[in-house]
Amino acid sequence: MSERDLLFSLRGVRYVYSGRHLALDGIDLDIYEGEQLVLLGANGSGKSTLLKLLDGIIGPTSGTMRAMGRDIAAVAEGEDAFRFHRQVGLVFQDPDIQLFCATVLDDVAFGPLQLGLEPDEVRRCCDAALAAMEIEDLARRAPFELSGGEKKRAAIASVLSLEPSVVLLDEPTASLDPRTKWVLVNLIRNLAAAGRTLVTATHELDIVPIIASRVVVLGEDGRVLADGDPEAILGDRALLIRANLIHEHLHEHGRVRHAHEHGAHDDHHALDPADGPLALAAPVGDPARPAPRVDPS
Ligand code: ADP
Ligand code: MG
Repeated sequence: MSERDLLFSLRGVRYVYSGRHLALDGIDLDIYEGEQLVLLGANGSGKSTLLKLLDGIIGPTSGTMRAMGRDIAAVAEGEDAFRFHRQVGLVFQDPDIQLFCATVLDDVAFGPLQLGLEPDEVRRCCDAALAAMEIEDLARRAPFELSGGEKKRAAIASVLSLEPSVVLLDEPTASLDPRTKWVLVNLIRNLAAAGRTLVTATHELDIVPIIASRVVVLGEDGRVLADGDPEAILGDRALLIRANLIHEHLHEHGRVRHAHEHGAHDDHHALDPADGPLALAAPVGDPARPAPRVDPS
């Protein structure tokens, strides 16, 4: 990698809320152009805080941080912030924060209009953003008339219309039903294929192989636990347990008992009594399997 491709560089970055709540500590991180980085961490591990730093909304409490050739502390204080936000766009976890206009099109056009672009250019940026999220038919709807998944797509479109080279996504698939989630994951993958640099915060392991070229795991102490290849990280069970991204769990489905791993927030139990999981389960006392470890608590 040449120096030219280095977009973000963090050294010893620490972030403390209100002088008391430590969110991130000792973060050393370089992000290069064209990467699809996933920030993987349990609730409270500092993912949203790190995205806010990368977006220059906040500056580090201590440590140094450069982004696109600028000092992030200065951007957070307003220096050249407008131009910075043409290059880096953050999609918040809650789309209601992003959508505040009367219609989806107004929201998507808001950024380009603020930039003072010519009407034809505004139209071109909006059309491209709506097309990227496949929501052209929703342009005239009010945000409150949208489903959860549609709102997410509209919120992403409202960031894409500024044509940022870096898109930061905070838990884009949180609280979506499975079909809606996978539609969105595919749309995100298409953004990556278009050459954008993506940084996605999530605790959902199943989306990682689709959207990550690299994974950074944040521990519950707000430090980087691991940084590397998605396949290696997803295969490191001890690491995932330590990061509270999976936990081992013993439970019963009728007469079948088994021990297995759960994602931090998967809805395995919601599937009972449909027997998808039972197909994988060993009956109690199955000699082909080791006895499940029983939690004494
Ligand atoms: P994540 O996005 O991984 O769930 P956050 O970045 O939201 O993590 O939070 C990291 C830590 O910072 C948590 O301990 C959280 O309680 C704390 N925190 C987040 N936002 C605030 C805030 N506005 N004021 C005080 N503490 C906060
Ligand atoms: Mg968060």
